[in-house]
Amino acid sequence: MPMQENYKKKLSRKTLALVDHIEQHMQSEIVVEIDDGRVGTLACKVDRVEAKILIPENGYFPESSVMHELIHLRRFCIEDVPKLVVCEVYGNWSPALQDAFIDLDNNLEHFVVVPEELKIFPERCEYWEACINSKLEELNIGNSGNGNKQGSALMYWVFLHHVFQSSGLLAKANEIVTRLGILDAVKCCFDQVVPYVESKEQFVRAWFNHLAIPLEAGCLEYIDCRNHSSKEVAVASVNL
Ligand SMILES: [Zn+2]
Repeated sequence: MPMQENYKKKLSRKTLALVDHIEQHMQSEIVVEIDDGRVGTLACKVDRVEAKILIPENGYFPESSVMHELIHLRRFCIEDVPKLVVCEVYGNWSPALQDAFIDLDNNLEHFVVVPEELKIFPERCEYWEACINSKLEELNIGNSGNGNKQGSALMYWVFLHHVFQSSGLLAKANEIVTRLGILDAVKCCFDQVVPYVESKEQFVRAWFNHLAIPLEAGCLEYIDCRNHSSKEVAVASVNL
């Protein structure tokens, strides 16, 4: 059975075409599910069992956000793009590390997904600028100089400069990284990671260098949505 018909009715032909494309490839439906803890945004979840779009409340299904989640799903299910996960054999596994990798993977996916989404729905530019602005505001308050803050500032600066060549936020991001003393480091990071954006494997590997993550912690999980299987490859085995 395909995506629930009442949700499909909310989508235009171009978005439905992508739903059909993914479902045909998987030979199963994309499930739309209400996620009670969620506020105001959609998300997707894909593993070897199924692919889902999570919604915050019944009927909340804005087309541009659905397209965003579908691009994530298309990459994982059809294009053989791996997800970053904590290696099963890594000795220092923790729920916090797992959550950090889920966040990092989502951020890295957005380097490809957001530009593609903006080509289809240019009006989403405002939404994404507002998202990044609120992240930058968070960096503007609280303790300065801790490692997490530097890592976050690095990520947002590189993302902004990759996605928005002319945004009012660029100056704000510059100010923050200058205050944190990492302006040269973020520029260097940009030059060393962005060339790999089309290869998820190399992109992850390059970011590991800049975020000082232990290489042995990371694995790349390839999900075969049609056959309900997956395999893992160590990030350490990827060459740059
Ligand atoms: Zn996303």
